[in-house]
Amino acid sequence: MPSHQPAAGMMAVDPDFVKQPSPMAKTTEPNRNKNYDPKKPHITDMPITKKNWYKHVNWLNVYFILGIPVMGMVAAVWTPLYLKTFVWAFIYYFATGLGITAGYHRLWAHTSYSATLPLKIFLAAVGGGAVEGSIRWWSRDHRAHHRYTDTDKDPYSVRKGLLYSHLGWMVMKQNPKRIGRTDISDLNDDPVVVWQHRNYIKVVLAMGLIFPTLVAGLGWGDWLGGFVYAGILRIFVVQQATFCVNSLAHWLGEQPFDDRNSPRDHMITAFATLGEGYHNFHHEFPSDYRNAIVWYQYDPTKWSIWVWKQLGLAYDLKQFRSNEIEKGRVQQLQKKLDQKRATLDWGTPLEQLPVMEWDDYIEQAKNGRGLIAVAGVVHDVTDFIKDHPGGKAMIKAGIGKDATAMFNGGVYYHSNAAHNLLSTMRVGVIRGGCEVEIWKKAHADNKEGKIVKDEFGNRIVRAGAQVTKVIEPTASAGAA
Ligand SMILES: [Zn+2]
Ligand SMILES: [Zn+2]
Repeated sequence: MPSHQPAAGMMAVDPDFVKQPSPMAKTTEPNRNKNYDPKKPHITDMPITKKNWYKHVNWLNVYFILGIPVMGMVAAVWTPLYLKTFVWAFIYYFATGLGITAGYHRLWAHTSYSATLPLKIFLAAVGGGAVEGSIRWWSRDHRAHHRYTDTDKDPYSVRKGLLYSHLGWMVMKQNPKRIGRTDISDLNDDPVVVWQHRNYIKVVLAMGLIFPTLVAGLGWGDWLGGFVYAGILRIFVVQQATFCVNSLAHWLGEQPFDDRNSPRDHMITAFATLGEGYHNFHHEFPSDYRNAIVWYQYDPTKWSIWVWKQLGLAYDLKQFRSNEIEKGRVQQLQKKLDQKRATLDWGTPLEQLPVMEWDDYIEQAKNGRGLIAVAGVVHDVTDFIKDHPGGKAMIKAGIGKDATAMFNGGVYYHSNAAHNLLSTMRVGVIRGGCEVEIWKKAHADNKEGKIVKDEFGNRIVRAGAQVTKVIEPTASAGAA
């Protein structure tokens, strides 16, 4: 799945996709909402006003995401928290979080590995316990998020604000027609996915509330604590944690692989999301079962998938070759380097320098202008004479002469920094065939016979490859 999305105004949809029937339309499929009629204008097509604002709100989601946690917090005031219940709530938080990260995300949305039926059932059950929608609904939106990252077709585009990408997109109604189309035929063929979608409310009640309550109640008699802490408040925590993949992971951190879109890598996001924090990597290599590629980076989702593989529960773990990963990293480094290079003064490009007669050069130098010719390039050092590290006398000795040999070891073997500094003072090129020689030399610096330029079209000048650097000083125009 490509992670670089076309910008607004570009051909955002693959023409082959347009020909496909809408994934919402088929009656044989488990649809998100039976009342949805694609022909009627959607509420989101109308502006929000004082009269209709409540119609824009998805009240069911408000209840699931905000209402239940508020009730849980109120109930917690009267409910003592026992250590056993706390530990159980934490374990169940981890399990239901894995249901989302290893199940919904890496298994179903990205098919980054394959799972046996028992593992699928486990992930569909605990993923349902996280109360974040069905696998089918979640994965469909997530595939659109990858396909159309940061565009209007991205269901949780961070360009609409951090809070919107975190939960605003669920609290406010969305137009199903706006969200980019994706192929979910594989999910419609997966009986576990279809069953979970059709029985979603039952799964939520059973795995979100009843099961954690039963464990604490039957286990150590803490029915109320199990319900409040391992049920309600644990749902709140796991929801907020996994929502961070859509918000924090597109907002905080570095972009080592590509900075054209918003996904970022950060340890804090990784800690909050069971390892989904290396999101710049993930958007570049979405079908890799890993998010963190270095062993010490926190990615318990990856570790779990690996353990399941050892147990024979997971197989076909997909992984990009490190050669491909490093290529992306190098290109991004190169881009940063080019940006940095573009901010520096490398002197007037040789092609833009005026051509000067040798006699004119000597004449101007005699009249008091501090001109020095090195390798056929004329430099105006008038303002630099007093600052010359080798003293005024030395630099003055070169004025009005061909100082190529002097500069390149005849008198003093100038440093790389000196060649760089000299290039910022260049004002002309000597005529007499020599300017052609200079350009030829500049070309010859590159093995392939042409000047290497960065992405901004600026010539890349490597250390030791400045045009004034002459290993064996050649006869200049003046001497010839
Ligand atoms: Zn993302
Ligand atoms: Zn993803």
